[in-house]
Amino acid sequence: MSEVLTASRIPLENYAEVVGAGEIEELRALAKPLRGRSIEMINSTAVGGGVAEILNRLVPLAEELDLGIRWDVMKGAEEFFDVTKSFHNALHGEPYHAKPKDFEIFLSYNEQNRATLPLDAEFVVIHDPQPAALIDARKPSSNHWVWRCHIDLSHPNRAVWDFLEKFVTRYDGAMFSSPEFSRQLSIPQYLFYPAIDPLSEKNCPLDSEFIEQVLRRYQIDPQRPILTQISRFDRLKDPVGVIRAYRIVKRYFDCQLVLAGGSASDDPEGALVLKDVLRAAEQDPDIKILELPAWAPLEVNALQRASTIVVQKSLREGFGLTVSEALWKKKPVVASAVGGIPSQIIHKHTGLLAHSVEGTAYQIRFLLSHPQIAAKLGENGHEHVKENFLITQKLKRYLALFLMLDRGL
Ligand code: UDP
Repeated sequence: MSEVLTASRIPLENYAEVVGAGEIEELRALAKPLRGRSIEMINSTAVGGGVAEILNRLVPLAEELDLGIRWDVMKGAEEFFDVTKSFHNALHGEPYHAKPKDFEIFLSYNEQNRATLPLDAEFVVIHDPQPAALIDARKPSSNHWVWRCHIDLSHPNRAVWDFLEKFVTRYDGAMFSSPEFSRQLSIPQYLFYPAIDPLSEKNCPLDSEFIEQVLRRYQIDPQRPILTQISRFDRLKDPVGVIRAYRIVKRYFDCQLVLAGGSASDDPEGALVLKDVLRAAEQDPDIKILELPAWAPLEVNALQRASTIVVQKSLREGFGLTVSEALWKKKPVVASAVGGIPSQIIHKHTGLLAHSVEGTAYQIRFLLSHPQIAAKLGENGHEHVKENFLITQKLKRYLALFLMLDRGL
């Protein structure tokens, strides 16, 4: 039994109507030799952020295939998450001067978690830097350990990466969300795109009545264009930049802006960023800043579906699951050309890329004045997600990786 409560199980057969029966048969065939084998996934938050979102769907699906999978969340106090958030930003290339004390804090919480987590599964998958030092618990040659990195490591802070690399190279392999994120490593590296679950509450079709109800609850006018960014209140998601882009657009279109975000238990910066956002909004009644509960998938789904345009103006990004979620809902998306976003947004085909506040505003204005092009981008985006970023494909890649590791390939 896993420590984390995952979302309800959806029978695997139900996915056949989205991805085809052949895909489900392939999954079953690949899973057969792995039936009952133990797998442990470990990350640092049960809710909030893309990693928890993926694990929440991946784990029940793997259970559907009779894998002995569990998902555990490492524990930490504020001082640990302050350090790991700084590491996260630094690995994304933000300026940061690491102090020896930061590394000590990181190591001591990893040590504490080594004492409480089982870490004895045949396949242990460690997500992101926070739990990377759990590898110290590995017993010689008994099981397989892989490190799944969800962040953009293309320009990391040297000191933080040098520290982390010593742990990473002791894994059997490392998985990255984009070829550009990989590092020169002595271990094999694998490309693993993040993925969304088309049948989850976050992405399933919704009644228009429910969508209208959500709009009423937040006093959003369905008759005027709605620009939306759904993201944790995080500086790297640049919510203040979104407000600045909206202000430019507002000179030409009577639109509204929705900035909706919950928090993640491993992200201590949310409250500060939210304050900046509220200040920047200057009580404009057409800017709706929504503090959602950490787990509100149906509301997020409704807000995405109600949007005229979805924005993701990140300054740095791992992958940006919110982009896939919007594209799946056939929404025109304007997003920054950073991190994994260009794998999803093929400029002028599945959405529009931008590089600045002004560029974001320009692309939004273009879409608002060309609704047919906007609709076409949304259609193409849906197909692109269907081909590349659905949870069934991700599960298939995991199964293939476990089989490979098992057979020593
Ligand atoms: N999300 C959510 N509620 C919020 C903010 C975000 O459910 O208030 C979800 C969002 O729908 C997506 C995930 O959290 O599924 C964020 O993943 P992404 O890769 O976009 O960014 P991350 O937070 O991992 O940097």
